[in-house]
Amino acid sequence: MASSSKSRSDRGNGSGSNPETLVLHAGWRADPGTGSVAVPIHQTTSFQFQDTGHAARLFALQEGGNIYSRIMNPTVDVLERRMAALEGGSAALALGSGQAASTFCVMNLCSAGDNIVSSTAIYGGTWNLFANTLRQFGIEVRFVDPADPQAFAAASDDRTRAWYAETLPNPKLEVFPIAEVAALGRGMGIPLIMDNTAAPVICRPLDHGAAVVMHSTTKWIGGHGSSIGGIVVDGGNFDWSAHPARFPTLNQPDPSYHGAVWTEAAKPMGPIAYILRMRTCLLRDIGAPMAPMNAFLFLQGLETLPLRMERHCANALRVAAFLAAHPEVARVIHPSVAGGEARRRAEAHLRGGLGSLLGFELKGGAEAGGRFIEALRMFYHVANIGDARSLAIHPATTTHSQLSAEEQAAAGVTPGYVRLSIGIEHIDDILADLDQALAAAAGAAA
Ligand SMILES: *Cc1c(COP(=O)(O)O)cnc(C)c1O
Repeated sequence: MASSSKSRSDRGNGSGSNPETLVLHAGWRADPGTGSVAVPIHQTTSFQFQDTGHAARLFALQEGGNIYSRIMNPTVDVLERRMAALEGGSAALALGSGQAASTFCVMNLCSAGDNIVSSTAIYGGTWNLFANTLRQFGIEVRFVDPADPQAFAAASDDRTRAWYAETLPNPKLEVFPIAEVAALGRGMGIPLIMDNTAAPVICRPLDHGAAVVMHSTTKWIGGHGSSIGGIVVDGGNFDWSAHPARFPTLNQPDPSYHGAVWTEAAKPMGPIAYILRMRTCLLRDIGAPMAPMNAFLFLQGLETLPLRMERHCANALRVAAFLAAHPEVARVIHPSVAGGEARRRAEAHLRGGLGSLLGFELKGGAEAGGRFIEALRMFYHVANIGDARSLAIHPATTTHSQLSAEEQAAAGVTPGYVRLSIGIEHIDDILADLDQALAAAAGAAA
């Protein structure tokens, strides 16, 4: 597996370790055959073997190389290397969507009868996957309050394979206590898996002790709202073989691969047992690879991600201040207006910005919220976040509508809550659109 065999030192061509540089240089220099600087789109299913011995060695993992694009592809491979470098991990695996990424993160460790403990503050799609679909296959997800690190320990037992949370979950937008929970988990031999979708560049969960990071690349990484994708980064910082009973999928002989023990098989390739098993078993059997064309588009987005995050975050900060001072607004939700423990956690985990998601509640409640959305002219009304364009939605009737009223309340979705994903347009134009929509919402009420 060529992509997996590169260690974390593969930062690409001596290009340093700053995110602005890594996203342009890590994992790729130029095509050895043509000199192409842009990463070529290898739109092919299969790769010609040199001879029968070469084919046999590739299948036996004795040599790295491409076989078939369900398992790996050279264009996708560059995105995987670049994202592993950006997050400070050992290797990565790109998938067809963020949902596939979170599914694989859990399935890579859990069999029927096992469980994970998850924060309640997670994306609606992840909630459904955890509460319903995984349960169908005998995997139990125990939900706990993310504000209480001890709750993760209290909900765990011998069959707990991982803890799961989001760095900056909407709608509450309270930064998860990554360092505290990761340290507790390490003491018990339980890895923390972080969904870092809403905080690329501004947070590196692995630096705070997380073992695995996943993203929906659909959002800020792509940035242009053109492709659906996901990625899982192996932190390479968790000793799975120190807890053989807790991680049977990685420590026991795998009958689907000649009895391979993944913690042993990975040794010559670096600390990549988790992602190696995910590629060789789950991707092989379940599929859901990222398409080469989409990997190319995500690479284009990734090149400007640090620059875009700066503008996203600066604009969101201005919008938070504008809304907090507006007479029609009852409440603003953004890390910049958080106090107490929430503020301390934001300061401890975020660098260079507080994200570009923002929520607020209108004094006129759900009806005013609806009028506000209808009156927006520049903001798009869509079920997406992280686009370069500014976006707005009313979660209670859309993204969180499949949750019960109690589940919505637990997730922090009140009836009048409006969610904004602030884009990179000029701040004056963003504020002008918000101002006229707020006036329309208030005017209709009077
Ligand atoms: C969108 C999203 C997902 C799911 O990603 P898709 O690419 O839409 O499958 C998972 N987690 C978070 C935080 C998201 O915003």
